[in-house]
Amino acid sequence: MKKVVILGAGTGGTVMANLLHKRLDKKDWSITVIDKDNVDYYQPGFLFIPFGFYTGDQITKQKSKFIPKGVEFIVSEVERVDPWSNLVVLPDGKKITYDFLIMATGAEIAPEKKAPGCVACLCHTSVRGFYQTCGGQQAGGVAGRAGDQDRHAFQRRTHRRSS
Ligand SMILES: Cc1cc2nc3c(=O)[nH]c(=O)nc-3n(C[C@H](O)[C@H](O)[C@H](O)COP(=O)(O)OP(=O)(O)OC[C@H]3O[C@@H](n4cnc5c(N)ncnc54)[C@H](O)[C@@H]3O)c2cc1C
Repeated sequence: MKKVVILGAGTGGTVMANLLHKRLDKKDWSITVIDKDNVDYYQPGFLFIPFGFYTGDQITKQKSKFIPKGVEFIVSEVERVDPWSNLVVLPDGKKITYDFLIMATGAEIAPEKKAPGCVACLCHTSVRGFYQTCGGQQAGGVAGRAGDQDRHAFQRRTHRRSS
């Protein structure tokens, strides 16, 4: 029996669990999903809460509802992966072996952490700050030129309309 372990039951992990469950022969494969909690937030819905289109309850579901029957779901933080031994280690010391590992643990926003070469990241206060301090000068230059072209096109159009 071969074993697939999926870390994260968010968008990516849930999609993979459902696809593999359909496609892999259950006689030969087992699938385990591990996530630190069982609460799913429909992230695009966050944008609509301030405007009253959704309430918090409407965008909150249980992750286990999206995991197909026959797939094991473990609710636990993943402490570390030992790729040399094909092991996932949980905080209680439990070790889970795998033949194939899918990491779908998403991204976390960490503005306090600076990428290498980023001298004084101001991304969270000003988009211009990103281009000036985070190695994006070249991209900033391109964006600047595109801005000028847009402005000139806009001026030509408004000039034509008014004359
Ligand atoms: C406000 C907002 C609006 C968005 N709107 C759209 C949109 O309109 N269209 C669109 O396509 N996308 C949208 N997105 C982006 C989309 O939600 C994400 O790209 C997508 O959820 C990423 O999927 P993922 O599987 O990589 O991560 P996630 O869905 O974040 O899943 C990661 C999972 O890993 C788990 N995890 C992390 N670390 C550990 C650990 N150490 N141990 C155990 N479990 C762990 C987490 O609990 C989580 O369940 C939006 C995002 C936000 C925030």
